[in-house]
Amino acid sequence: SKEHWRRNVSLLKPYIPGIAIEDVKRKLGLEEITRLASNENPFGPSPKAVTAMRLALLDSQLYPESSCRALREKLASLFELKPEQFLIGNGADNVISLIGTAYINPGDEIIYCTPTFPAYRTITLLMGGTPIEIPVTKNQTYDLDRILAAITAQTKLIFICNPNNPTGTIVENGLLESFLQRIPPHVIAVLDEAYVEFIEQPGYHTGVDFVKKNYPVIFVRTFSKLYGLAGTRVGYCAANCDLMKPILAVREPFAVNRIAAAGAFSALDDEDYKFTILQENKREMEKLSKELRALGYDVTESHANFLFVDIKGDAVELTNTLMREGVLIRPCIAWGLPQHARITIGTAEQNERLLTALRKII
Ligand code: PMP
Repeated sequence: SKEHWRRNVSLLKPYIPGIAIEDVKRKLGLEEITRLASNENPFGPSPKAVTAMRLALLDSQLYPESSCRALREKLASLFELKPEQFLIGNGADNVISLIGTAYINPGDEIIYCTPTFPAYRTITLLMGGTPIEIPVTKNQTYDLDRILAAITAQTKLIFICNPNNPTGTIVENGLLESFLQRIPPHVIAVLDEAYVEFIEQPGYHTGVDFVKKNYPVIFVRTFSKLYGLAGTRVGYCAANCDLMKPILAVREPFAVNRIAAAGAFSALDDEDYKFTILQENKREMEKLSKELRALGYDVTESHANFLFVDIKGDAVELTNTLMREGVLIRPCIAWGLPQHARITIGTAEQNERLLTALRKII
């Protein structure tokens, strides 16, 4: 198994997320940058979260409460689960790594669809597992039957990113539950629900429902998207207590700092903020999709805070040209998709800046 470990780590390259705003400013000498490349919340965090974080700063000499008890209790009452069913981490990235660290042994097979969030592949290789990649269908949705057919005695985890990054698509309601009923008992489904709050369908079943029904499911969420706290790094996962045990055993004691924990706690209280963000996202997404289609691009219907766009040309070149105009988008070349870009929904003003730049370029 040592051989396995070495070989797989050598397959990894450093993961470079979108170019930092600071670097673009310096490189191009631009003052004003519109970043629509990292699926951040363009409105910033809730003022309630900011106030709580300011207050928490005053206790910075103290180590944080290690397990984020207050935040777990609040999430538990929100979802009608138990605080012991939650683990809070340093962003969903950290949580996904912990799940992989707890569950993946050399030789295990880990299934996920592509294109998707790259962290599943990274942790699989790092732990000596074997990634089993199933391409999404022509309309960018998951082929759950193909996933089921790919399950073997070696399968350990199936990652389902729902809504999926970068396509913005979701599994049709009802299909996920019948899928969960059909997976064999040695397999765990990890539902990455980083964008789940953006799904507009009333009654849509999520990881919360599946955990309550005791399916072999771990769901992962984050404060980076709807809650606008990507910079402070808070994510979490939840499952039944037996499934949580190995994950809790490998967490670091102080991965979440007390400022971040306080911000996340208070963000959950701000219903008005959440309502506004969802409303703005919906309105701007409809507008931007329409305008991009009018420019001749194909835009996949999205259930998140970003669009998956086929620009029918060289998306890297377009990205670089837009960057010189002060607008950052994410080309999908790292997913092997040279003609696609992922564009975060910005504020009305930011989206207009993108469209103005596009009209100038093309
Ligand atoms: N999962 C998905 C699908 C994501 O898109 C992201 C962030 N881009 C994450 C997890 C990680 O989120 P966090 O900022 O909480 O680490």
